[in-house]
Amino acid sequence: MARDPVCEMEVDEKSAPSSKHGGQTYYFCCPSCKGEFEKNPTKYA
Ligand SMILES: [Zn+2]
Repeated sequence: MARDPVCEMEVDEKSAPSSKHGGQTYYFCCPSCKGEFEKNPTKYA
């Protein structure tokens, strides 16, 4: 499991939307958390 950095939910990295930032991959519970992360990645990374 991975942790969604935006809402801190546990997410399954096999099915979760993901985004790369600073050489690391982050996983999200939903596209809106992914969008929120991509707007301001340094806040969450
Ligand atoms: Zn989330």
